[in-house]
Amino acid sequence: MTDDRPRPHADTAGGVLAVDIGGTKLALRAVAAGTTVHERTVPWPAGDDAEADSELLEACVAEAIAALPGAPVRIGVAAAPNVGADATVLSWPNRPTWVGRSLSAPFTGSGAEVLFGDDATLAALAEAVSTAGRDLAYLGIGTGVGGGLVSGGRLLTGAWGTAGELGHLVTDPRGPRCRCGTRGCLQAVVSAEALAAHATAARGLPTSSAELVAGVERAEPWAERTLDHAADSIAGALRVLAELVQPAQIRIGGGLGAALAPLPGRVARRLAATARPGRPLPEVGPAVHGPHSSLAGAALLAARGPHVLNGADLFHEGSPP
Ligand SMILES: [Zn+2]
Repeated sequence: MTDDRPRPHADTAGGVLAVDIGGTKLALRAVAAGTTVHERTVPWPAGDDAEADSELLEACVAEAIAALPGAPVRIGVAAAPNVGADATVLSWPNRPTWVGRSLSAPFTGSGAEVLFGDDATLAALAEAVSTAGRDLAYLGIGTGVGGGLVSGGRLLTGAWGTAGELGHLVTDPRGPRCRCGTRGCLQAVVSAEALAAHATAARGLPTSSAELVAGVERAEPWAERTLDHAADSIAGALRVLAELVQPAQIRIGGGLGAALAPLPGRVARRLAATARPGRPLPEVGPAVHGPHSSLAGAALLAARGPHVLNGADLFHEGSPP
């Protein structure tokens, strides 16, 4: 593994701030000279009130900046919502009152350059850099299901910069309807909410995703059935992905994905069962950053700058810092 700690250099001498704006929580990490000096995770306030969220975000950013030795020049933000070029929130199913608001407004007081990236895309970057993985796919399973692809040492951006949305690969055309409107997207089948619903049916009792994790740890038969269902659907999506981009490794993370320890192994077994002769299989393993890959990616974005999102070679010595 390589060291992915932000490298201190002239323009980040005061340290960097990483923020992960998730569907249910906000996470912040302040890093100075390669050392984390502040880390905090806060759930969003109950209800959907963008004004209250914005005030909380602004206060948490000020608190994190106060822990740094100097003013951060750049802040990296991993965002669950779909954010436009001017940082306006275009869609956010979890917190719809944010739509049309600026996600950069709560950062204005920082005086720093604020860089936004898709949370799963940044997670893929962090996983690739930390594993020296030039060909890597990341799958994040939590409130939503996201993905990111690094191919040949570069982020695969696609024509509109958002390639690698594994959550919207259709794995079951007759499956449940996704929030995007399509039926049977991977997200509609294996998000935390969808797996809790599956576990509820398998167990015959209302079951949360946290109870599913506990059930998996105890190897309860109902939890095993839900885990197998998740592994089947994920393997179906990854089989297509492996043919298209041939990742050497697939890392499974996100809040729920990282908590389901047996999941990567089960997915790997299903992929192996349908391997084509003479074709190597990707290694399927847990995210090395556990549930914090997006936050680690946001720190990387703050330390290295926007070129990491624009398809630059992540491992080239001469690339901008
Ligand atoms: Zn979808």
